[in-house]
Amino acid sequence: MALTLGIETSCDETSVALVENGRRVLANVIHSQVDLHREFGGVVPELAARDHLERLPNLLDLAFEQAGAGPDDVGLIAVTRGPGLAGCLLVGVGVAEGLGAAWSRPVSGVNHLWGHIYAAMLTRPELEPPLLGLVVSGAHSDLVRMPEHGRFEVIGRTRDDAAGEAFDKAARMLGLGYPGGPALDRLARSGNPNRRRLPRPSLAGLEYSFSGLKTALLYRLRDLGRDVTDQDRADLAAAFEQSVVESLLEKLDQCLPTRGEVARRAGGGIQEVVICGGVAANTLLRRRAAEVVSGRARLTMPPPELCTDNAAMIAAAAQLASPPRGEVARSAGGGSHSPAAQLASPPRGEVARSAGGGSHSPIQVDPSLGWD
Ligand code: ADP
Ligand code: MG
Repeated sequence: MALTLGIETSCDETSVALVENGRRVLANVIHSQVDLHREFGGVVPELAARDHLERLPNLLDLAFEQAGAGPDDVGLIAVTRGPGLAGCLLVGVGVAEGLGAAWSRPVSGVNHLWGHIYAAMLTRPELEPPLLGLVVSGAHSDLVRMPEHGRFEVIGRTRDDAAGEAFDKAARMLGLGYPGGPALDRLARSGNPNRRRLPRPSLAGLEYSFSGLKTALLYRLRDLGRDVTDQDRADLAAAFEQSVVESLLEKLDQCLPTRGEVARRAGGGIQEVVICGGVAANTLLRRRAAEVVSGRARLTMPPPELCTDNAAMIAAAAQLASPPRGEVARSAGGGSHSPAAQLASPPRGEVARSAGGGSHSPIQVDPSLGWD
């Protein structure tokens, strides 16, 4: 049994996973730091890093216990190398490299953004690129084309706030505190989005912008002043959520063939759509995305626990992603994406490193890593 051990510590979730073949989750334990940061209203980087370090040993034990496996079963160690908080990333990478040296196993540094897409491969094990991804998290609202494993082309992004960031800020304005996105989701369920409508941001092309919407909410709350009722808050939460969700889906819609084209087989191009990242846990987004994509492409949205940060997606990305550009020939020649072939050759993923053989080069942590 050759498993990939995944470690994720980029922000405020500590997670350890064991994944088989890059497709089957045997364990995915997640410790959320929300209680630690709640009194500060947001993530405190130093506290987050220290907590990752304190939690990792227990989480490792727990993951092995849940998987019914031990270190001997691990063939590859995968760890998030960015983007994220520098101190937090360093903790994960340090632990991964320590384990790699102790167990003589290769360690692969993984791009967290790639991980969000690879969560979909854990959700539908037969899913293969090419696909269109909408990655919506606390820091990103990106539309990406993935023509093949390990290759991503950004075709749309946000000009200012990311969708998750907008949800978090709106939640704070509505008095919901941290973490905002899930709380706003819950409040919106008892609201009417049409009672206090908010503008729907719409830029030309495939660009998003959520800062104007945020300001509109601020003014609406200011106008209501002290008279604001719980129902007003719920209605505004629902209106805000609707504006963000419809804006996200408007651009996705532009990228998809029409149902008529699909029926005439004239659409070409995109047949698989993945919506992922923390915001993909949102109730309305899940419902509306299914409606928008239906009859035009196949939609995969990971379950909520694989949408928010987790180590299973990091393990999957390390095992399934193609080697970095320039090394493509090696895998193309072998012609195989099979896990066995991948484990036989050096680990893949963005930065593949071999440990234990004496030629160990450290994984580069990159807090502002982009898609490539
Ligand atoms: P990161 O940005 O660190 O990669 P995640 O991918 O876990 O983090 O995404 C976190 C973001 O997802 C936060 O902004 C959070 O508010 C948002 N989020 C989580 N659940 C929901 C939800 N149900 N509705 C809206 N936003 C959500
Ligand atoms: Mg994330």
